[in-house]
Amino acid sequence: MRIVLTAVIMALMVSLSLAEAEGQRRIVLSFDDPPRGDGALYSGQDRTDRLIEALQASGSGPVLFFVTTQGLERHESGRDRLLAYAEAGHILANHSHTHMWAHRTPAQDYLADIDIAAGYLETLPNTRPWFRFPFLDEGRRPDQIAALAEGLDARGLANGYVTVDTYDWHLEMRFQQALSEGCAVNYDALGALYVSLSVEAAAYYDAVASDALGDAPVVHVLLLHENDLAARFAADLVDGLRNAGWEIVHPDQAYRDPLPTPQTPLTGQGRVAALAIDAGRDPRTIVHWGIDAALIDAQIEASGVFGD
Ligand SMILES: [Zn+2]
Repeated sequence: MRIVLTAVIMALMVSLSLAEAEGQRRIVLSFDDPPRGDGALYSGQDRTDRLIEALQASGSGPVLFFVTTQGLERHESGRDRLLAYAEAGHILANHSHTHMWAHRTPAQDYLADIDIAAGYLETLPNTRPWFRFPFLDEGRRPDQIAALAEGLDARGLANGYVTVDTYDWHLEMRFQQALSEGCAVNYDALGALYVSLSVEAAAYYDAVASDALGDAPVVHVLLLHENDLAARFAADLVDGLRNAGWEIVHPDQAYRDPLPTPQTPLTGQGRVAALAIDAGRDPRTIVHWGIDAALIDAQIEASGVFGD
């Protein structure tokens, strides 16, 4: 018995060290802005049902939803949809009530809006005390940035930062537009583009992290939105990330050992990019097609996603 156990333990140790040697990279999936309204492909309720099913089928485990609570006032099924995410094991956190720009809003008003969202979230299960800044805008003036950071601290809210930025919302906008105009959609090409946008952005920001932060392991956090593309292609996305060497990990791993707070106010591409800027990188050199609307449009043209 002891020999068998030893063999099992040794096999486990070998497989663990292999995973390390292969540089298994970890990433959390996050979907912002639920409960969003009806889309041209799915109603809000259908979208939630399909997204839960797709994630379940993919074996991703729990993902993170940053809730914009005004959706609860705007959409009748909003609360049930958030309950459904939570009951499926997914995690809910605070993304404000009205999704304001921090740099355009007095800190006091901004924090009051976060408090409204917190009031709604208190009535829901499976929440975490994390706040994601809408538009990744954490303020621009030093006094404002400090006031917001202190306000989050006072509320016991951690910064629910992103490390991998994407413009999935731009691809979604083009998709919705194509449907409303009655264009033909090549769903295989659209799915491939949706997946490659995130997979390539993840590789890109991981390289930015290695350059700026060295080899310290980063638990990445991918920014996506609760949109029709996510509901349609979430399982493909999980496969694509795994094929590229990523392990999808539980949201609780994201902010357990958080990356340092950046000094630069240029946080619009997430925390890894901001820390790279702190380390001396020229922000103009942090560029990727997945965060450039014109380059995404060019990919759409090249791959024939939308027909006449
Ligand atoms: Zn948002």
